Amino acid sequence: MRVFKFGGASVKDAEGVKNVVTVLSETGHENTVVVISAMGKTTNALEEVVNAYFKQPESFKSILADAETFHQAIIEELFEAPNTPVHKRVKELFGQCHTFLVNNRSPHEAFVYDQVVSFGELISTSIVCAYLNHVGIAAEWIDARACIKTDNFYRSAHLDWERTQSAIQSQVQGNKLKITQGFIGSDDNNFTTTLGREGSDYSAAIFAYCLGATDVTIWKDVPGVLNADPRVFDKTQLLHHISYQEAIELAFYGASVIHPKTLQPLQRKEIPLFVKSFLNPTESGTQVGKGVRMRPEIPCYIVKKGLSLLRLSTRDFSFVVEDNISDIFKLLHEHKMSVDLIQNSAISFSVCVNDKYQNMETLLHNLRARFDVQYTPDVMLYTIRHFEENSATAILKAHELVLEQRTLTTLQLVMK
Ligand code: ADP
Ligand code: ASP
Ligand code: MG
Repeated sequence: MRVFKFGGASVKDAEGVKNVVTVLSETGHENTVVVISAMGKTTNALEEVVNAYFKQPESFKSILADAETFHQAIIEELFEAPNTPVHKRVKELFGQCHTFLVNNRSPHEAFVYDQVVSFGELISTSIVCAYLNHVGIAAEWIDARACIKTDNFYRSAHLDWERTQSAIQSQVQGNKLKITQGFIGSDDNNFTTTLGREGSDYSAAIFAYCLGATDVTIWKDVPGVLNADPRVFDKTQLLHHISYQEAIELAFYGASVIHPKTLQPLQRKEIPLFVKSFLNPTESGTQVGKGVRMRPEIPCYIVKKGLSLLRLSTRDFSFVVEDNISDIFKLLHEHKMSVDLIQNSAISFSVCVNDKYQNMETLLHNLRARFDVQYTPDVMLYTIRHFEENSATAILKAHELVLEQRTLTTLQLVMK
């Protein structure tokens, strides 16, 4: 078995869906499980539906209707005939989403989020699967919710590996091409769950692990893993090979080309991961696997924007030691801050955080009850792996340095 993953960018329009056929024709499609994300920016649109629903219940309808129009236009371009089964299926799925929202009584936002946002993947896979069959590539649609079993920590559910393993083995059988959804699963009560934004890469790794796949390929709009995000940096270079460990580090520091949870399951079974361009499917791209750390060995740049830097010091000039630090972390955890960098000295403690859920005000209020807090909003964190003498020159010229941290392999700069 091989596992392929096509992300939102690869199926953002009818051309993209046709290109999936091209890729599958060029690479073969027997014994293949294809994991697909929602089309284009559909997940963002469905997030807006959920936000609108909780703020002004009636206003979600027009956003949902726009998402439906977007998908129906893609279907019309792919299938000449009107009212085919896929037209009906997609209408039915939007109808189910609408009915859920109208009848829902749960005030639990994360639960509602998962029930709604998951339709993006259910719809995209229905369209792609129907199109493959339409052009003569026999494909079977598989409901990932019957395969990926999780707890009920909605929006960021944790995998139940044992149940998932047996569910996947019973659901995925035969050598016919399989089309399934990334990002979604289900809990013990069969309510839909999601694995966290950008989680489709992780879904592909889960399927690969449970099937003992020979390899996984994630198809991207870039030639592979580059030494920096080409949207942010000029003159990026392709990394031909990277070790699992190096890829885990890059993803952990924020290289958004691979979801950080993807690599550990693959490493456990030594399943190679290929990152390739969906526009040039026969090019070799990047291989993540065993062996050398990185080829070529060059500095890699990662930037995270919109972070906040907090510098805490004690009021009585006492040291910031274990008890203070554990209290600080407890507060950070309670306010759902993700921590990107920490640095401490005898009398101060600095932490660079990502305030994903807009909790900064209450966090500051709670921290200020005990510490002097210097708060710097909107900073950027640059991480340079395998830095050399002049690797940071351009960054230091362009911005103001607020904090620096280095290890033997990694230089991190907090910039304003
Ligand atoms: P998907 O369609 O699978 O969701 P994403 O948009 O999430 O794809 O990921 C691909 C994007 O990741 C690229 O367009 C690129 O801008 C960005 N990216 C960030 N860091 C890197 C990197 N180191 N190498 C390649 N692409 C990167
Ligand atoms: N559709 C989901 C998202 O946009 C999952 C994914 O694309 O990986 O976050
Ligand atoms: Mg993505």
